Amino acid sequence: MKTAIYPGSFDPVTLGHINIIKRAAAAFEKVIVCVMVNAAKDSGLFTPEERLELLKKSIHVDNVEFDINRGLLAEYAKQQNARVLVKGLRAVSDYESEVQMALINGKLNPDLDTVFFPSSEKYTYLSSSVVKELARYHADLTEFLPREILEDVKSKIAEKEKCR
Ligand code: ADP
Repeated sequence: MKTAIYPGSFDPVTLGHINIIKRAAAAFEKVIVCVMVNAAKDSGLFTPEERLELLKKSIHVDNVEFDINRGLLAEYAKQQNARVLVKGLRAVSDYESEVQMALINGKLNPDLDTVFFPSSEKYTYLSSSVVKELARYHADLTEFLPREILEDVKSKIAEKEKCR
């Protein structure tokens, strides 16, 4: 089975991510959307477990599965028998770091290749960080987030604001 892994922070999942997941699901037999826990930048808005739940709430496609990984992606791919990583490319600014990561992952696991999906025009400007920034100003997020998680994001932001 041709399995691809789509790794990311997904803090939270946006419509830009959903667009890539659907396109990857059409291209591969199985897609594992994996919340990567990055030791260096661990203080997200949502915990990795919450991010996973938000992903599960947002998209229901038969050949898409969800997981969390705290280790090295190249090793995780081996365990999952996956030979492809999926990445979304928004702008030229994504390109440099993504190609660097692709080369490193290929070095660590020579069976692993990276496939890039260009962002849909509609979502080129969209990132989880932009969404979080807008949420802090109570902006309307319906064009950026899956509707299933709108309330979760609003209430999490409100909760964080209260603690400040
Ligand atoms: P971010 O916090 O920047 O949104 P993530 O780590 O959650 O990033 O993103 C995971 C993957 O999804 C990366 O390959 C990233 O380039 C891609 N991605 C994120 N947002 C979009 C978007 N709007 N369109 C296409 N790809 C995207």
